[in-house]
Amino acid sequence: MPYATIGEILSRVDRRSPCPPGQFPDFDPENLKAWAYFIHVYLDFSQGTGWFASPVATRTMEWPSFLPRYNEGSGRVDDPPLLARLSHLEELRKILDYISYCMRVWRIKPVIIPGSTTILGFSIDSDDAYNGCFQRAKDACDVAWEKVMSYSARRLYPYADPWERPGGPNVVASGDREEGEDVAFILPDITLLYLEANQEWQQVFGDIGSGNIEIQAGYRTQNWQRRVSRARQSAHVAGAAIDALPPQVFMDCFPFQEDNYGKRISIGYLCWLFRRAAQNSPYFREIVVLNRGQPNETRVPRIPKTLCEPGTAHISFGWLLHAVGSRDVRQDVLPSVTRPYPVDANDPDAGTDVPTSRTRDEFQGPGQLNHLWDVFDPTQYATLNFGAISNQPDYSGGISARWLASYISEALNNRGWDFGRLIRQHHVDRLNNQDARIGQID
Ligand SMILES: [Zn+2]
Repeated sequence: MPYATIGEILSRVDRRSPCPPGQFPDFDPENLKAWAYFIHVYLDFSQGTGWFASPVATRTMEWPSFLPRYNEGSGRVDDPPLLARLSHLEELRKILDYISYCMRVWRIKPVIIPGSTTILGFSIDSDDAYNGCFQRAKDACDVAWEKVMSYSARRLYPYADPWERPGGPNVVASGDREEGEDVAFILPDITLLYLEANQEWQQVFGDIGSGNIEIQAGYRTQNWQRRVSRARQSAHVAGAAIDALPPQVFMDCFPFQEDNYGKRISIGYLCWLFRRAAQNSPYFREIVVLNRGQPNETRVPRIPKTLCEPGTAHISFGWLLHAVGSRDVRQDVLPSVTRPYPVDANDPDAGTDVPTSRTRDEFQGPGQLNHLWDVFDPTQYATLNFGAISNQPDYSGGISARWLASYISEALNNRGWDFGRLIRQHHVDRLNNQDARIGQID
């Protein structure tokens, strides 16, 4: 039952006995009033006051300050507070964090004292009431994640490589379709980071080809993953990774085409660029990691894992999904589209969910850029050893803007290579002044 307006939602969805969350109106994910009401009805009646306190869930999280509140008196959702606008994707990420937090609170079953036990403002007077409410919250959590991930996947559609799947489904989506629609779910962190990294790319190479970093692959259903890869586990299946390359004309104009110089240099550079974009961005500060063997919370920078593969730059936030705690917690706070999610390798109940060693490493955290090419050595101009940055099994290398600027400069000025007049001196100058160069390289 689609609702056109927030007014209709308020008039038709009874907050005491709402329809199942899956049938909740297909509201615009950018509509903050609709989000506020959805969270109010399904996950958190209290909106930040009188929370169920648990000795385990010691961390509290405030109702997201940019979200309007449900006003009991008027029976309406207030207007959004006047705040500096975040990007929509950042708002959506914060909403997901809040929903995950609510789920962590919900999953701790209280000792029920009729008349006085409440969880997030819902009164719980029996086991049945608890189980029913928890299930409703889980369903709502799933709907919320899918809505956000579907929206953020579609934000990437315009940047798909036009040659990758001509006439077919968008390559950001899986190859599978449902009711004529491409099936696609991507973490908002990936989309937000892509847009930031692409802005950096545009500032330097925006005048070449499409001017964008092009996406080769995004979300894959499990079914599609089996068709395109031997690896059973992949961050693509969780909507937590994209593969990216520069425009083909950019890669084609490098020397030593027979050794794939253009493509392999580009891939190394993108792996560095996506990490630097995250390091520089105000949106990717840090994430609190719980239950990873440490008694206390740890704060980890929100940087992607990058894989400098021979054929593509694989950019992954799969570790963010793994960072939300133990397997049981993940099961509750993550949506079904991110499963089968990776599990702890030493978990005796892990069974066949255990990813291969390579993907497991990808789910542990961003790690470091090993084998970073930062200072270019002109004597290696014709004999670059890409195995050093794209080494099996971890593919953890990268190429900095400084190295790339020196390489292009060497080709233009000392080797008589003109890059088909596509890459020129002004690109070298822009690389040397690139925002992404500010700060320390990790
Ligand atoms: Zn990939």
